[in-house]
Amino acid sequence: MKDPNCIFCKIIAKEIPSKIAFENEEILAFHDISPQAPVHIVFIPKKHIVSLSDVKNEDSALLGNILVQIRDVAKNLGIAENGYRVVNNTGKNGGQTVFHIHFHLLAERQLHWPPG
Ligand code: AMP
Ligand code: ZN
Repeated sequence: MKDPNCIFCKIIAKEIPSKIAFENEEILAFHDISPQAPVHIVFIPKKHIVSLSDVKNEDSALLGNILVQIRDVAKNLGIAENGYRVVNNTGKNGGQTVFHIHFHLLAERQLHWPPG
């Protein structure tokens, strides 16, 4: 479940402080330490999964539950009407820097396409 060298596992264990936006038994969401938009929340499974490439078929419900929680947090924050972006960076070319799978929720500014 937990990787002792993983910064996000340490956040889950509360060994590193974070500003929690949502938590249940399988998911944690916290505000990004280096926000790229006025709202920037990181959603992670409590299960240590390195990246989307490492997801097992049996993790599909967990991933679906994360997206459902992103929907609900966005609704509760009042950002759903204006819209938001959900980002998963996978591996080196995807720009992943923390190797515990996560989904960024970015909102409250106009986001551009294509991404950099
Ligand atoms: P990624 O580049 O997609 O792997 O995203 C990792 C994200 O984790 C970055 O946006 C970082 O700013 C964020 N991050 C790293 N350490 C922390 C921390 N201790 N608390 C909150 N966010 C963090
Ligand atoms: Zn981890």
